[in-house]
Amino acid sequence: MQHILIIEDERAIAELERDYLESHGYQVHIEGRGDIGLKKALDGQYDLIILDVMLPKMDGFEICREIRQQHNVPILMVTSKKEDIDKIRGLGLGADDYITKPFSPSELVARVKAHLSRYERLTSNKDSHNDFIQIRGLCIDRPARRVTIHDEEAMLTSKEYDLLLLLASHPNRVFDKMELFERIWGLDSNGDTATVTVHIRRLREKIEHDPSNPQYIETVWGVGYRFKV
Ligand code: CA
Repeated sequence: MQHILIIEDERAIAELERDYLESHGYQVHIEGRGDIGLKKALDGQYDLIILDVMLPKMDGFEICREIRQQHNVPILMVTSKKEDIDKIRGLGLGADDYITKPFSPSELVARVKAHLSRYERLTSNKDSHNDFIQIRGLCIDRPARRVTIHDEEAMLTSKEYDLLLLLASHPNRVFDKMELFERIWGLDSNGDTATVTVHIRRLREKIEHDPSNPQYIETVWGVGYRFKV
């Protein structure tokens, strides 16, 4: 059975979410305070976290950042404010998805299901040959060689696409620039690791909300890059 933690101070909303999730076979725990919620989330016994933004003691942004530094667990953020959405998308907090209040419980259940199965795929088979790779709003459609960010198409060149696909197919694995160059361009081609740097920069301009604060392709200083999950 999969365990879900709801961090939400509005009891009525939390209980509504819990009832729906339980009726779909999930085991649910509710925590009303931000600081305690974070502690529970870091215990590592939950398969997914539903995290409200406005919370007493510690807000959802901070909690999300802290969880993400230690855990790969899917995080679904809940907010009632439109202004929060840009923050969730742009800050590189590492949230997988967000949902705005009011939402229908069935929509919540559908998102929870989708993220749980995506994480299962990612963690059980990192070299999987799935047709789609979906991570925090970014979707790679392999058969079509097409990339969308929050349903908007990113127009990538062939090399940019190959680079993104290689990184995203091996989430959290660090690639050094020479390896990327060899695998994408081939040893015999003209160019060097600076080519990789240039392509990563262009790729970020196309897929990142804020290229100077990337939430997908992370620079590992002195080494290379990795696709963050
Ligand atoms: Ca709240």
